[in-house]
Amino acid sequence: MNEAQEFKPLSEAVIFEKYPKLFRQKDMSLMDSAMCWGLQCDSGWYWLIDAMCGAIQFNCDFNKTRQVEFTTVKEKYGQLIVYWNFVRTPETFKDECRENYDSGLIEGIINSFEVVSNHTCEVCGNRGFLCHHGSWVKTLCFEHAEKLDYAPGDVYFDYDEEPPTEEDIGGINS
Ligand SMILES: [Zn+2]
Repeated sequence: MNEAQEFKPLSEAVIFEKYPKLFRQKDMSLMDSAMCWGLQCDSGWYWLIDAMCGAIQFNCDFNKTRQVEFTTVKEKYGQLIVYWNFVRTPETFKDECRENYDSGLIEGIINSFEVVSNHTCEVCGNRGFLCHHGSWVKTLCFEHAEKLDYAPGDVYFDYDEEPPTEEDIGGINS
């Protein structure tokens, strides 16, 4: 058994409690924010979301970027997708340059974690790759691809390369 197998993902409640400012919209109505649906992905990605939130809140608190809040955190086409905005106060409209700089920084952090999700099993958090089941796509490790009856590769695109083998990816027992 390796360390990755022993890893216990955080619960959604713990993540919400750790980052109340980022998840403020979770208590808003569906009319106002999709965040009321909670984290719309499986718990294998919670460690990514936790790390992403840590990086963003650090920038808000210590690097004095504007406070971010999420409007949607979900899986889409096998990838983590995050929509967000800055908390709006009268002062935030005074400095557009700062707004653009802050925005680029936050986008950079979020994009990097979205890319990592492309290589992380959504179910267990272990190393994964894009799989498909009919027209559904999901990023999974070999074990969960088999359990959920998903096949390697993306149904929508022809890759030049062959889908990865278990040897390429490194199975959970490697
Ligand atoms: Zn897995």
